[in-house]
Amino acid sequence: MKVIIIGGVAGGMSAATRLRRLNEEAEIIIFEKGPFVSFANCGLPYYVSGEISERSQLLVQTPESLQARFNLDVRPHHEVLSIDSHAKMVTVKHEDQTFTETYDHLILSPGAKPFVPPIEGIAEAKNAFSLRNVPDLDNIMTVLDGEQPKEAVVIGAGFIGLEMAENLQMRGIKVTIVEKAPHVLPPLDEEMAAFVKKELEANNVRVITSQSAVAFKDEGRTIVLEDGSELTSGLTILSVGVTPENRLAQSAKIELGLRGGILVDENYETSQKDIYAVGDAIVVKNQITGEDALISLASPANRQGRQVADVISGLKRKNKGSIGTAIVRTFNMTAASTGLSERAVRLAGLPYQVVHTSGKDHASYYPGATDITLKLIFNPETGTIYGAQGVGQKGVDKRIDILATAIKGNLTV
Ligand code: FAD
Repeated sequence: MKVIIIGGVAGGMSAATRLRRLNEEAEIIIFEKGPFVSFANCGLPYYVSGEISERSQLLVQTPESLQARFNLDVRPHHEVLSIDSHAKMVTVKHEDQTFTETYDHLILSPGAKPFVPPIEGIAEAKNAFSLRNVPDLDNIMTVLDGEQPKEAVVIGAGFIGLEMAENLQMRGIKVTIVEKAPHVLPPLDEEMAAFVKKELEANNVRVITSQSAVAFKDEGRTIVLEDGSELTSGLTILSVGVTPENRLAQSAKIELGLRGGILVDENYETSQKDIYAVGDAIVVKNQITGEDALISLASPANRQGRQVADVISGLKRKNKGSIGTAIVRTFNMTAASTGLSERAVRLAGLPYQVVHTSGKDHASYYPGATDITLKLIFNPETGTIYGAQGVGQKGVDKRIDILATAIKGNLTV
């Protein structure tokens, strides 16, 4: 059996190592267009402040270590240009050469690329960056390690935006976050996200909501907002979301769905036989509503990678959908959510009730207890749990983990 995997990070490398664990004989080739495989995307923001101090800590595995431990043929700097699904062959570019390689099974894990908003003057902005990979991080570090800017602007207050704001502030830079939605952390409901906003402001991060950037002037040094106000920026981080990397799939006539995501069946097979896809690029089912969803998170990508390896190896595995459990630290505050927010439930027209509880993370008489606020959203008739959110200094992960397990296991309130 010969398996080719496109994309050598979360989903792709999980598929490769699981395949090897299941099959000693398979020929497994991983093509990665970037310089690194299996790097810690989720750790990138923490290198900015030095909390992760060594660049090498971000490079979890190398082609050599993967070859030595798993006998994988890992090829960075190899971009797959096209797929011929009839001949079961891919065309690959390496440096200035192209060559072809045949496959029995092909797994796509090309991820999602940062969405670059069509803001006037963005092409001329020399100091505006997205953060997806190590080369992006290197570009940002070049600016920071030169004459460090006094002010930075983060556009988009999702997970990556908040992490970048914190890490830039920890370098002593005055940070402003601009968010188009009415509150930071749009996956959370407003009253829960308010705790995070307060924590940001307590740490001297300025938060501007219900505003978007409409123009960059002076090669990006001035950012104009919708209301006409202007911000000065020495470094701008664009973190307004991601979009599925679907170019290859599209050119191979693989069916696409929601916002260009790759459509797969329960076994991760695309509309083309023997071509599978996992990770940020695919459309999944929201397990609670059954609706199509795009969920760009590492743990579903990793799990899907392992499951597709199972499927190819003849084990029965089905993608039962995702519930999008996520967590982020902002200074001394943790915010986490699982399942649907109240807003999403309301928009879906589902019957619901919510309960908020505020307490301590452990018995209040015992020293060191800190505040924790939880929100549960559920169906009052059936007791079905739609979702949960938590904010606090400690213990939020534990509560949300348990509630995520409850949702996955169809436990009721
Ligand atoms: P990726 O891991 O992005 O890998 C796709 C790879 O495919 C890329 O390296 C790309 O170069 C390669 N590729 C694409 N096209 C081709 C081609 N034609 N030929 C060859 N190679 C190709 N998730 C969390 O759950 N928690 C977090 O804390 C978290 N933090 C994050 C922080 C940052 C800064 C970023 C960028 C992401 C973060 N994520 C986090 C998201 C998480 O990293 C992704 O959900 C996950 O990596 C998706 O895995 P994937 O395999 O689908 O894509």
